[in-house]
Amino acid sequence: MEGLFEGASLVAIMAGVLALAGGLLGARRARGRSTGQTSTPMHEVASDAPAAAPVAPDPEAEPEAEAEPAGVTGRLARTRNLLTSALAELVGAGLDDAAWERLEEGLIAADVGVQATTAVVADVRRLAREGGVRDVDGVRRLLRDALVAELSSGERALRRRDGDGPTVWFVTGVNGAGKTTTIGKLASREVAAGRHVVLAAADTFRAAAAEQLGIWAERTGAELVRGEEGADPASVAYAGVDAALASGADLLIVDTAGRLQNRRELMDELGKVGRVLAKRAGGIDETLLVLDGTVGQNGIAQAEAFHDAVEISGVAITKLDGSSRGGVVVAVQRQLGIPVKLVGLGEGIEDLEDFDPVTYVDGLLED
Ligand code: GDP
Ligand code: MG
Repeated sequence: MEGLFEGASLVAIMAGVLALAGGLLGARRARGRSTGQTSTPMHEVASDAPAAAPVAPDPEAEPEAEAEPAGVTGRLARTRNLLTSALAELVGAGLDDAAWERLEEGLIAADVGVQATTAVVADVRRLAREGGVRDVDGVRRLLRDALVAELSSGERALRRRDGDGPTVWFVTGVNGAGKTTTIGKLASREVAAGRHVVLAAADTFRAAAAEQLGIWAERTGAELVRGEEGADPASVAYAGVDAALASGADLLIVDTAGRLQNRRELMDELGKVGRVLAKRAGGIDETLLVLDGTVGQNGIAQAEAFHDAVEISGVAITKLDGSSRGGVVVAVQRQLGIPVKLVGLGEGIEDLEDFDPVTYVDGLLED
Protein backbone atom coordinates (compact mmCIF):
# COMPACT_ATOMS: atom_id res chain seq x y z
CA MET A 1 0.00 0.00 0.00
CA GLU A 2 2.87 2.32 0.77
CA GLY A 3 3.96 2.23 -2.85
CA LEU A 4 0.85 4.18 -3.68
CA PHE A 5 2.12 7.14 -1.78
CA GLU A 6 5.53 7.37 -3.36
CA GLY A 7 6.09 10.75 -4.84
CA ALA A 8 3.17 12.34 -3.03
CA SER A 9 4.86 15.25 -1.39
CA LEU A 10 2.35 15.50 1.42
CA VAL A 11 3.19 12.01 2.57
CA ALA A 12 6.64 12.89 3.71
CA ILE A 13 5.43 16.18 5.00
CA MET A 14 2.64 14.85 7.17
CA ALA A 15 4.65 11.87 8.33
CA GLY A 16 7.52 14.13 9.28
CA VAL A 17 5.18 16.53 10.96
CA LEU A 18 3.67 13.81 13.12
CA ALA A 19 7.07 12.46 14.05
CA LEU A 20 8.26 15.89 14.99
CA ALA A 21 5.44 16.45 17.44
CA GLY A 22 7.50 14.48 19.89
CA GLY A 23 10.26 17.02 19.58
CA LEU A 24 7.88 19.82 20.40
CA LEU A 25 6.52 18.04 23.44
CA GLY A 26 10.07 17.45 24.58
CA ALA A 27 11.01 21.07 24.02
CA ARG A 28 8.16 22.22 26.20
CA ARG A 29 9.21 20.04 29.04
CA ALA A 30 10.47 21.93 32.02
CA ARG A 31 10.43 19.48 34.85
CA GLY A 32 12.76 19.85 37.76
CA ARG A 33 13.77 16.60 39.31
CA SER A 34 15.22 15.65 42.62
CA THR A 35 15.82 11.96 42.90
CA GLY A 36 15.17 11.25 46.54
CA GLN A 37 17.39 8.19 46.43
CA THR A 38 16.65 5.66 49.13
CA SER A 39 17.76 2.12 49.70
CA THR A 40 16.11 -0.49 47.55
CA PRO A 41 14.80 -3.40 49.56
CA MET A 42 14.22 -6.57 47.59
CA HIS A 43 11.69 -9.29 48.12
CA GLU A 44 12.19 -12.66 46.54
CA VAL A 45 9.27 -14.82 45.53
CA ALA A 46 10.04 -18.52 45.31
CA SER A 47 9.52 -20.20 41.99
CA ASP A 48 6.72 -22.71 42.05
CA ALA A 49 6.46 -23.14 38.33
CA PRO A 50 8.59 -25.17 35.93
CA ALA A 51 11.03 -23.26 33.75
CA ALA A 52 9.29 -21.94 30.67
CA ALA A 53 9.92 -23.61 27.35
CA PRO A 54 11.84 -21.72 24.65
CA VAL A 55 9.72 -19.76 22.22
CA ALA A 56 9.84 -18.75 18.61
CA PRO A 57 10.82 -15.14 17.91
CA ASP A 58 7.92 -12.74 18.19
CA PRO A 59 7.41 -11.08 14.81
CA GLU A 60 5.84 -8.10 16.54
CA ALA A 61 8.77 -7.44 18.82
CA GLU A 62 11.32 -4.67 18.52
CA PRO A 63 10.73 -3.13 15.13
CA GLU A 64 13.41 -0.87 13.75
CA ALA A 65 13.14 2.72 14.83
CA GLU A 66 13.65 5.24 12.06
CA ALA A 67 16.45 7.76 12.14
CA GLU A 68 15.79 10.72 14.34
CA PRO A 69 16.61 14.21 13.09
CA ALA A 70 19.14 15.95 15.28
CA GLY A 71 18.23 18.69 17.72
CA VAL A 72 14.82 19.78 18.94
CA THR A 73 15.13 23.26 17.47
CA GLY A 74 16.09 21.83 14.11
CA ARG A 75 13.14 19.51 14.15
CA LEU A 76 10.73 22.31 14.87
CA ALA A 77 12.07 24.49 12.10
CA ARG A 78 11.72 21.60 9.70
CA THR A 79 8.16 20.92 10.81
CA ARG A 80 7.17 24.50 10.28
CA ASN A 81 8.74 24.67 6.84
CA LEU A 82 7.33 21.36 5.73
CA LEU A 83 3.85 22.11 6.87
CA THR A 84 3.78 25.61 5.49
CA SER A 85 4.60 24.22 2.06
CA ALA A 86 2.08 21.39 2.46
CA LEU A 87 -0.77 23.73 3.14
CA ALA A 88 0.49 26.14 0.49
CA GLU A 89 0.35 23.30 -2.01
CA LEU A 90 -3.19 22.41 -1.03
CA VAL A 91 -4.35 25.98 -1.32
CA GLY A 92 -2.21 26.64 -4.42
CA ALA A 93 -3.96 23.76 -6.16
CA GLY A 94 -7.24 25.55 -5.49
CA LEU A 95 -8.29 22.92 -2.94
CA ASP A 96 -9.01 20.52 -5.77
CA ASP A 97 -9.89 16.84 -5.35
CA ALA A 98 -6.39 15.62 -6.03
CA ALA A 99 -4.88 17.92 -3.39
CA TRP A 100 -7.38 16.77 -0.76
CA GLU A 101 -6.60 13.17 -1.67
CA ARG A 102 -2.92 13.83 -1.16
CA LEU A 103 -3.66 15.24 2.27
CA GLU A 104 -5.62 12.07 3.04
CA GLU A 105 -2.80 9.88 1.81
CA GLY A 106 -0.36 11.77 4.00
CA LEU A 107 -2.45 11.31 7.11
CA ILE A 108 -2.93 7.63 6.36
CA ALA A 109 0.79 7.15 5.76
CA ALA A 110 1.38 8.71 9.16
CA ASP A 111 -0.94 6.04 10.60
CA VAL A 112 -3.76 8.30 11.62
CA GLY A 113 -5.88 5.42 10.28
CA VAL A 114 -8.38 5.33 7.46
CA GLN A 115 -11.40 5.96 9.69
CA ALA A 116 -10.03 9.03 11.43
CA THR A 117 -8.44 10.41 8.26
CA THR A 118 -11.63 10.06 6.25
CA ALA A 119 -13.64 11.76 8.98
CA VAL A 120 -11.14 14.56 9.57
CA VAL A 121 -10.60 15.41 5.90
CA ALA A 122 -14.33 15.24 5.16
CA ASP A 123 -14.99 17.66 8.03
CA VAL A 124 -12.27 20.05 6.98
CA ARG A 125 -13.41 19.99 3.34
CA ARG A 126 -17.02 20.62 4.26
CA LEU A 127 -16.21 23.41 6.69
CA ALA A 128 -13.82 25.02 4.21
CA ARG A 129 -16.51 24.94 1.52
CA GLU A 130 -19.28 26.19 3.80
CA GLY A 131 -17.14 28.92 5.30
CA GLY A 132 -15.53 29.90 2.02
CA VAL A 133 -12.13 29.24 3.57
CA ARG A 134 -9.46 29.14 0.89
CA ASP A 135 -6.35 30.46 2.61
CA VAL A 136 -3.56 28.52 4.27
CA ASP A 137 -4.18 29.76 7.81
CA GLY A 138 -7.88 29.09 7.55
CA VAL A 139 -7.40 25.52 6.36
CA ARG A 140 -4.75 24.95 9.01
CA ARG A 141 -7.16 26.11 11.72
CA LEU A 142 -9.87 23.78 10.46
CA LEU A 143 -7.47 20.85 10.34
CA ARG A 144 -6.21 21.66 13.83
CA ASP A 145 -9.73 21.81 15.27
CA ALA A 146 -10.74 18.55 13.58
CA LEU A 147 -7.68 16.70 14.92
CA VAL A 148 -8.10 18.11 18.42
CA ALA A 149 -11.76 17.08 18.35
CA GLU A 150 -10.69 13.54 17.39
CA LEU A 151 -8.53 13.44 20.50
CA SER A 152 -10.66 15.34 22.94
CA SER A 153 -12.66 12.58 24.59
CA GLY A 154 -11.48 10.58 27.59
CA GLU A 155 -9.95 11.29 30.95
CA ARG A 156 -6.19 11.43 30.55
CA ALA A 157 -4.87 11.64 34.10
CA LEU A 158 -3.54 8.34 35.42
CA ARG A 159 -6.09 7.13 37.93
CA ARG A 160 -5.20 7.08 41.61
CA ARG A 161 -6.89 5.54 44.58
CA ASP A 162 -8.55 7.91 46.93
CA GLY A 163 -9.36 5.39 49.62
CA ASP A 164 -7.13 3.07 51.61
CA GLY A 165 -4.17 1.20 50.27
CA PRO A 166 -1.74 1.86 47.47
CA THR A 167 -2.71 2.94 43.97
CA VAL A 168 -2.15 0.03 41.57
CA TRP A 169 -1.00 0.39 37.97
CA PHE A 170 -0.86 -2.76 35.86
CA VAL A 171 1.34 -2.46 32.78
CA THR A 172 0.89 -4.65 29.69
CA GLY A 173 2.09 -4.81 26.10
CA VAL A 174 4.10 -6.96 23.69
CA ASN A 175 7.77 -7.65 24.15
CA GLY A 176 9.94 -4.68 23.26
CA ALA A 177 7.10 -2.14 23.37
CA GLY A 178 8.77 -0.24 26.19
CA LYS A 179 6.89 -1.43 29.29
CA THR A 180 9.84 -1.68 31.63
CA THR A 181 11.34 1.59 30.44
CA THR A 182 8.01 3.38 30.83
CA ILE A 183 7.65 1.97 34.34
CA GLY A 184 11.13 3.23 35.19
CA LYS A 185 10.25 6.70 33.94
CA LEU A 186 6.97 6.67 35.86
CA ALA A 187 8.74 5.52 39.03
CA SER A 188 11.23 8.34 38.66
CA ARG A 189 8.45 10.89 38.38
CA GLU A 190 6.48 9.49 41.27
CA VAL A 191 9.45 9.20 43.63
CA ALA A 192 10.43 12.76 42.74
CA ALA A 193 6.90 13.80 43.72
CA GLY A 194 7.54 12.33 47.16
CA ARG A 195 5.67 9.06 46.75
CA HIS A 196 6.80 5.68 48.00
CA VAL A 197 6.79 3.37 44.99
CA VAL A 198 6.96 -0.43 44.75
CA LEU A 199 7.78 -2.10 41.42
CA ALA A 200 6.75 -5.73 40.95
CA ALA A 201 8.59 -7.70 38.26
CA ALA A 202 5.82 -10.03 37.15
CA ASP A 203 7.71 -10.62 33.91
CA THR A 204 9.29 -13.82 35.21
CA PHE A 205 9.78 -15.18 31.74
CA ARG A 206 13.44 -14.14 31.61
CA ALA A 207 15.66 -13.34 34.61
CA ALA A 208 16.99 -10.38 32.63
CA ALA A 209 13.56 -8.77 32.70
CA ALA A 210 13.53 -8.57 36.50
CA GLU A 211 17.12 -7.38 36.47
CA GLN A 212 16.21 -4.56 34.10
CA LEU A 213 13.38 -3.48 36.39
CA GLY A 214 15.78 -3.76 39.34
CA ILE A 215 18.13 -1.28 37.69
CA TRP A 216 15.26 1.18 37.34
CA ALA A 217 14.32 0.60 40.99
CA GLU A 218 17.86 1.43 42.05
CA ARG A 219 18.06 4.51 39.82
CA THR A 220 14.78 5.88 41.07
CA GLY A 221 14.74 4.80 44.70
CA ALA A 222 11.71 2.56 44.26
CA GLU A 223 11.30 -0.72 46.12
CA LEU A 224 11.57 -3.91 44.02
CA VAL A 225 9.65 -7.16 44.32
CA ARG A 226 10.79 -9.96 42.06
CA GLY A 227 10.54 -13.70 41.61
CA GLU A 228 12.86 -16.30 40.23
CA GLU A 229 12.87 -16.99 36.52
CA GLY A 230 9.82 -19.09 35.75
CA ALA A 231 7.98 -18.12 38.94
CA ASP A 232 4.24 -17.70 38.69
CA PRO A 233 3.77 -14.06 37.65
CA ALA A 234 0.53 -13.84 39.61
CA SER A 235 2.44 -14.75 42.79
CA VAL A 236 4.85 -11.89 42.16
CA ALA A 237 1.97 -9.47 41.67
CA TYR A 238 0.46 -10.78 44.91
CA ALA A 239 3.75 -10.34 46.76
CA GLY A 240 3.96 -6.85 45.30
CA VAL A 241 0.68 -5.91 46.95
CA ASP A 242 1.85 -7.37 50.27
CA ALA A 243 5.11 -5.43 50.11
CA ALA A 244 3.30 -2.23 49.20
CA LEU A 245 0.89 -2.69 52.12
CA ALA A 246 3.71 -3.59 54.51
CA SER A 247 5.74 -0.50 53.66
CA GLY A 248 2.73 1.81 53.43
CA ALA A 249 3.57 2.53 49.79
CA ASP A 250 1.57 5.05 47.78
CA LEU A 251 1.92 3.26 44.48
CA LEU A 252 2.47 -0.26 43.16
CA ILE A 253 3.42 -0.67 39.49
CA VAL A 254 3.31 -4.20 38.10
CA ASP A 255 5.46 -5.08 35.06
CA THR A 256 4.40 -8.05 32.93
CA ALA A 257 5.75 -10.35 30.24
CA GLY A 258 5.01 -9.56 26.61
CA ARG A 259 6.01 -12.82 25.09
CA LEU A 260 4.96 -16.39 25.77
CA GLN A 261 4.52 -19.49 23.65
CA ASN A 262 1.54 -17.99 21.92
CA ARG A 263 -0.90 -15.16 22.17
CA ARG A 264 -3.62 -17.27 23.80
CA GLU A 265 -1.25 -18.24 26.57
CA LEU A 266 -0.04 -14.69 27.07
CA MET A 267 -3.58 -13.38 27.28
CA ASP A 268 -4.67 -16.15 29.68
CA GLU A 269 -1.72 -15.39 31.91
CA LEU A 270 -2.34 -11.65 31.87
CA GLY A 271 -5.96 -12.23 32.71
CA LYS A 272 -4.93 -14.35 35.68
CA VAL A 273 -2.36 -11.84 36.94
CA GLY A 274 -4.96 -9.10 36.62
CA ARG A 275 -7.55 -11.06 38.58
CA VAL A 276 -5.15 -11.99 41.38
CA LEU A 277 -3.84 -8.43 41.57
CA ALA A 278 -7.31 -6.89 41.64
CA LYS A 279 -8.49 -9.29 44.31
CA ARG A 280 -5.51 -8.82 46.57
CA ALA A 281 -5.31 -5.04 46.14
CA GLY A 282 -9.05 -4.35 46.12
CA GLY A 283 -8.98 -3.29 42.48
CA ILE A 284 -6.61 -2.02 39.80
CA ASP A 285 -6.64 1.72 39.29
CA GLU A 286 -5.03 1.84 35.87
CA THR A 287 -4.40 -0.91 33.33
CA LEU A 288 -1.96 0.58 30.88
CA LEU A 289 -1.19 -0.78 27.45
CA VAL A 290 2.25 0.20 26.18
CA LEU A 291 2.34 0.46 22.38
CA ASP A 292 5.42 0.95 20.25
CA GLY A 293 4.71 4.09 18.21
CA THR A 294 6.80 2.83 15.31
CA VAL A 295 4.57 -0.15 14.51
CA GLY A 296 1.68 1.91 13.19
CA GLN A 297 -1.59 0.15 12.50
CA ASN A 298 -0.25 -3.11 13.91
CA GLY A 299 -0.66 -1.40 17.28
CA ILE A 300 -4.42 -1.37 16.81
CA ALA A 301 -4.55 -5.15 16.49
CA GLN A 302 -2.34 -5.51 19.57
CA ALA A 303 -4.52 -3.15 21.53
CA GLU A 304 -7.68 -5.06 20.61
CA ALA A 305 -6.17 -8.36 21.79
CA PHE A 306 -4.99 -6.90 25.11
CA HIS A 307 -8.24 -5.07 25.66
CA ASP A 308 -10.13 -8.37 25.34
CA ALA A 309 -7.92 -9.94 28.00
CA VAL A 310 -7.54 -7.22 30.63
CA GLU A 311 -9.71 -4.22 29.80
CA ILE A 312 -7.21 -1.46 29.10
CA SER A 313 -7.95 1.92 30.71
CA GLY A 314 -5.14 3.94 29.16
CA VAL A 315 -2.47 3.74 26.48
CA ALA A 316 1.18 4.80 26.60
CA ILE A 317 2.71 5.27 23.14
CA THR A 318 6.49 4.95 23.13
CA LYS A 319 9.26 5.80 20.67
CA LEU A 320 7.47 8.76 19.13
CA ASP A 321 10.92 10.33 19.05
CA GLY A 322 11.99 7.97 16.29
CA SER A 323 8.69 7.37 14.54
CA SER A 324 7.08 8.76 11.44
CA ARG A 325 3.90 6.95 12.41
CA GLY A 326 2.90 8.93 15.47
CA GLY A 327 -0.55 9.40 13.97
CA VAL A 328 -1.40 6.10 15.60
CA VAL A 329 -2.31 8.22 18.62
CA VAL A 330 -5.37 9.39 16.71
CA ALA A 331 -6.17 5.92 15.37
CA VAL A 332 -6.03 4.30 18.82
CA GLN A 333 -8.36 6.85 20.26
CA ARG A 334 -10.91 6.60 17.45
CA GLN A 335 -10.83 2.87 16.80
CA LEU A 336 -10.64 1.70 20.40
CA GLY A 337 -12.06 4.60 22.37
CA ILE A 338 -9.20 4.26 24.84
CA PRO A 339 -7.44 7.49 25.80
CA VAL A 340 -3.74 7.88 25.11
CA LYS A 341 -2.37 9.04 28.47
CA LEU A 342 1.41 9.02 28.07
CA VAL A 343 3.94 9.39 25.28
CA GLY A 344 7.52 8.13 25.33
CA LEU A 345 10.01 10.42 23.62
CA GLY A 346 13.31 8.67 24.17
CA GLU A 347 15.20 6.16 26.26
CA GLY A 348 16.14 8.59 29.03
CA ILE A 349 14.55 8.73 32.45
CA GLU A 350 12.84 12.07 31.73
CA ASP A 351 11.65 11.18 28.25
CA LEU A 352 8.03 10.64 29.21
CA GLU A 353 5.22 13.15 28.80
CA ASP A 354 1.58 13.28 29.76
CA PHE A 355 -0.23 13.27 26.47
CA ASP A 356 -1.88 16.59 25.73
CA PRO A 357 -3.96 16.74 22.52
CA VAL A 358 -3.66 20.47 21.99
CA THR A 359 0.11 20.51 22.43
CA TYR A 360 0.37 17.50 20.15
CA VAL A 361 -1.78 18.87 17.36
CA ASP A 362 -0.22 22.32 17.61
CA GLY A 363 3.10 20.54 17.28
CA LEU A 364 1.84 19.09 14.02
CA LEU A 365 0.43 22.24 12.58
CA GLU A 366 1.93 25.28 14.24
CA ASP A 367 3.06 28.01 11.88
P1 GDP B 1 9.45 -4.14 27.22
O1 GDP B 1 9.89 -5.44 26.62
O2 GDP B 1 8.06 -3.79 26.80
O3 GDP B 1 9.62 -4.07 28.69
O4 GDP B 1 10.37 -3.00 26.55
P2 GDP B 1 11.64 -2.24 27.16
O5 GDP B 1 11.21 -1.27 28.21
O6 GDP B 1 12.67 -3.24 27.54
O7 GDP B 1 12.09 -1.39 25.91
C1 GDP B 1 12.52 -1.97 24.69
C2 GDP B 1 13.49 -1.01 24.02
O8 GDP B 1 12.80 0.18 23.63
C3 GDP B 1 14.62 -0.55 24.94
O9 GDP B 1 15.80 -0.49 24.17
C4 GDP B 1 14.19 0.85 25.36
O10 GDP B 1 15.29 1.67 25.69
C5 GDP B 1 13.48 1.32 24.13
N1 GDP B 1 12.49 2.38 24.42
C6 GDP B 1 11.47 2.35 25.30
N2 GDP B 1 10.77 3.50 25.28
C7 GDP B 1 11.34 4.29 24.33
C8 GDP B 1 11.05 5.62 23.79
O11 GDP B 1 10.10 6.32 24.17
N3 GDP B 1 11.89 6.05 22.80
C9 GDP B 1 12.93 5.32 22.34
N4 GDP B 1 13.67 5.83 21.37
N5 GDP B 1 13.21 4.08 22.82
C10 GDP B 1 12.43 3.57 23.78
MG1 MG C 1 10.21 -5.55 30.00
